[in-house]
Amino acid sequence: MNGTGARRGVAALVPLLVLAGLGLALPAAPSAAATPPANSVAPFGATAIGANAVANANAPVVAIAATHDGGGYWLAGRDGGIFNYGDAGFFGSAGSLRLNAPIVGMTATPNGGGYWLVAADGGIFNYGDAGFFGSAGSLRLNAPIVGMAATRDGGGYWLVAADGGIFNYGDAAFAGSAGSLQLNAPVVGMAATPNGGGYWLVARDGGIFTYGDARYFGSLGGTSLPGPVVGLAVTPSGGGYWLAVGSEPLAGEVVGIDPGHNGLNYSAPSFIDAPVFNGTGTEPCDTTGTATDGGYTEAQFNFNVATDLQADLQAEGATVVLTRPNNAGVGPCVTTRAAIVNEAHADVAVDIHADGGPSDGRGFTVLEPTADGPNDGVVASSAAFAATLRNAFVGGTPMPVSDYDGIDGLQPRNDLAGLNLTTVPKVLIECGNMRNATDAALLVTPSFQQAAAAAMAQAITTYLTGGAQA
Ligand code: ZN
Repeated sequence: MNGTGARRGVAALVPLLVLAGLGLALPAAPSAAATPPANSVAPFGATAIGANAVANANAPVVAIAATHDGGGYWLAGRDGGIFNYGDAGFFGSAGSLRLNAPIVGMTATPNGGGYWLVAADGGIFNYGDAGFFGSAGSLRLNAPIVGMAATRDGGGYWLVAADGGIFNYGDAAFAGSAGSLQLNAPVVGMAATPNGGGYWLVARDGGIFTYGDARYFGSLGGTSLPGPVVGLAVTPSGGGYWLAVGSEPLAGEVVGIDPGHNGLNYSAPSFIDAPVFNGTGTEPCDTTGTATDGGYTEAQFNFNVATDLQADLQAEGATVVLTRPNNAGVGPCVTTRAAIVNEAHADVAVDIHADGGPSDGRGFTVLEPTADGPNDGVVASSAAFAATLRNAFVGGTPMPVSDYDGIDGLQPRNDLAGLNLTTVPKVLIECGNMRNATDAALLVTPSFQQAAAAAMAQAITTYLTGGAQA
C-alpha cells in the first residue's frame, strides 16, 4: 500500500492531444478519428477486435483489460458483468453478486488465464489464475478507487483512485501519481507497461498521463463522446492502447417523478375531493396543496422542481416518467399517480411536495413507506434511498432538516397512496414548510428549486449506481 506515497509523486503530465471532431462515427469499428459509440473501445496504435462495442449492456462499461498477446480484450460492466472479445477467455464474473460498491476496474494475468475486478470501495475479486495480494477495502479512501493494473509477472497490482492516488500491492512498485495535480477530470483507469517500469492513467475526459517508461499514442481529450472514458488497456509491446468509452451513468434507468397536486385542482372540488382507497384507508383523490403567505402555490413549486429534476436526469441518460405534463390541469388522483410510476417499472421514484406545517416550524422531511402488502418488496430499498436523499438535501441545499416532523429528516408513513401502493423504490419529500416565512423565502426562488432538483438528481444517481447507504 502506498497511499501516502501517492501524494508525493511527481507526474509526467503529457499535454492532451485535442482531436478535431470529425462528425458522425463510421459504421465500422471506431478509430481515433471517429466518435466512438457508447460502451465501446477506441484504439490508438492498436486495432479494434471483435464487435468492439457492447450492445444491450445491463450497466455501463467501466473497465477494459487486454490479453497477453494483444489478440483480445475484456470489457467489464459496472454490475460486474464481463464481455470478452478475440482470444480473451471467460473465467467468471461478479454479475450475479450483490456488490457493496460498483465494479470500476479490471486487469488480466500475464498469460490471460484469469483476471481481477476491483470495486469503488477497493474490494478485489479474482478469477482464474489471478492471485490475491491485498485490497483497499478496509481503508478510509480520500477518493473512490477507479481502476487497476497488474504487474508483468502477475505477482502484484496497482490500484488508482479518482484523485490520481496510487496504491501498490505485491511486487508492484510506485512510479508516481497524479494525486498532487489539479485534474480537469477525475482519473478513471490505468494500465502498466509490459516490463512494469511505468504506467498510464486515463481521465474521464479521455486525457492521458504517462509515468516511467509509458509512452503517449493519442487521447480522446476534446472529443465529443456519448459517455465518459472509463479505462485503458495496453498492447503487448507497449506500442499502443485501447481506451474504453462507457455510457452516461443513468443510461437504461427509468426514474418516476410525481409533482404533487396540480395548478387547477381548486377548480374541480367534486373530482379531487372524491375518496380513493390508498391501501390502508381512504384519502381524497387529490388536494389543492398548500401555498406561501404570498400566494405562491405548492403545485407550482412541485412542478418547477420536477422539470428541473427531469432535465438533470435526462442529461445523465435516464428515462423520466412524470405523473402530470404541466401545471395547468386537474389531478390525476394519487392512486393513478402511483400506478403511472408502477407501470413504468421505474427503478426509483420521488414524490415532490412542500409542506403546510406550523408557521414556527422549519425544514424538510423525507417520508418513506412502511410495509402494507403492495409495497413490501420496496420498503428496504426505499429506506436506503430516503437516507441518501436526506444526506444529499442537507449537503446540497440551504434547507435544514425539519424541526417539527420526523427524526433527522426521515419519517415513515402508512397513510399515503403514493407510498402505500408503490411497487418501486419511492419516497415523498416535503422540501420545506411553505407556511414558515424563512422557508417560504427559499422555496419561491429558482435558485433553491434548482438546488433541490440537483440534490435529488445526485441522490438518485448515487442510489442507482450502487453507492446508496443503508
Ligand atoms: Zn403536497
